[in-house]
Amino acid sequence: EKTGVAVLGLGSMGSALAGALLAGGHAVRVWNRTPGKAGELVARGAREAGSVAEAVDGSDVVIVCILDYGDVGPLLEQAGGPAGLQGRVVVNVTNGSPEEAREMAERVAALGGAYLDGGIMAVPEILATPQAFVLYSGSRTAFETSRGLLDSFARSVYLGEDPGLAPLNDLALLSGMYGMFGGFAHAAALIRSAGGPVAGFTSTLLVPWIQAMAGALPAMAEQVDSGDYSVTGSPLAMQVSHDAIGDLSRAQGVSPELWAPVLALMERRVADGHGSEGFAGVVELLRG
Ligand code: NDP
Repeated sequence: EKTGVAVLGLGSMGSALAGALLAGGHAVRVWNRTPGKAGELVARGAREAGSVAEAVDGSDVVIVCILDYGDVGPLLEQAGGPAGLQGRVVVNVTNGSPEEAREMAERVAALGGAYLDGGIMAVPEILATPQAFVLYSGSRTAFETSRGLLDSFARSVYLGEDPGLAPLNDLALLSGMYGMFGGFAHAAALIRSAGGPVAGFTSTLLVPWIQAMAGALPAMAEQVDSGDYSVTGSPLAMQVSHDAIGDLSRAQGVSPELWAPVLALMERRVADGHGSEGFAGVVELLRG
C-alpha cells in the first residue's frame, strides 16, 4: 500500500510536488491557505483538506512548501495539538537557512514528528525529470522510510543528520550557478558590443567551453581540500600580468563590474606571494 501524504502549500512548486506524488500513485491530501487552488489536483485524485489538521490526520508524511520559512512553524502547530505530528515525517522544502533548519527540526521533534529539511534543485517545470534533484538533511530514519515517496519528486540526495546541510548545499549550488550566469552576462555584453548575435556564440562556443572548463573543477576542489595550490599550467601571475579582459571591456564600452571583483582577488593572491599557484587559491581569501 502506498504512503498517505499531505502537501501543505499549493503555490507553483507545491502544486508540482503534489502532481508528482499523484503520478507516483500516492494517496495525496492537499491544503492551501487560500482555497481554490486545488481544482486540477483534485481532478487527478487528490483530496482537498479544509484545514492543516485535516490534511495531516492520516498522512504518514507531511510535505511543506510555502513562501517564507518563518511561517512554517506556526503552520505546523495547527496540525492538531500535541499529537498532531506524532509518528509522522515532516519534509519541509521551503527555502531557508541552515540555522532555521536546525531550529525547525527541534520544533518538529517537540511536536512528536521526525524532520527532514529539503532543497529542491529544480524549477516546477523540470520536477520529476532526470535533470532535477532534491537535497535532504535531518533524520536518516525519516529519509529511509519515506525514500520511495520522495523519489517521486526527483533523484533524492541525502546529505546527513545535520538538518542545516540541505540549505547549506542548496545555497552553495546557487552560488556556483550565479557565478556562471555572471560570466555569461559579461561574455554576452562583449559579443553584443561588437555587433554579433549572442545566440550563435552561446550555443556553438560558450556552452561547450563552459562544459570543458567544468572538467577542471574536481582538481581545483582537491587543491582547496589539501591547501596545496601548486600548478604547472597557468599560474595566477601569468593570468593577471595584463588585464586583457578589462581593457577589451572598456574599449568596447562594456562595464567591467562583473569581472573586476574576480580580477581583484587574483591580484591579491599574487600580491600575497602566491603568483606561481593556481586560481583555486582565491578560496583562501574568502575565509571569514
Ligand atoms: P509561490 O509564490 O508560487 O507560492 C507560495 C505558496 O506559499 C502559496 O501556496 C501561498 O499560499 C503559501 N503561503 C505563503 N505564506 C503563507 C502562510 N503564512 N501560511 C500558509 N501558506 C502560505 O511559491 P513557490 O511555490 O514557487 O515556492 C515555494 C517554496 O519553494 C519557496 O520556499 C521557494 O523558495 C521554494 N522553491 C521554489 C522553486 C521555484 O522554482 N518555484 C525552486 C526551488 C525552491 P496562498 O495561495 O494562500 O498565498
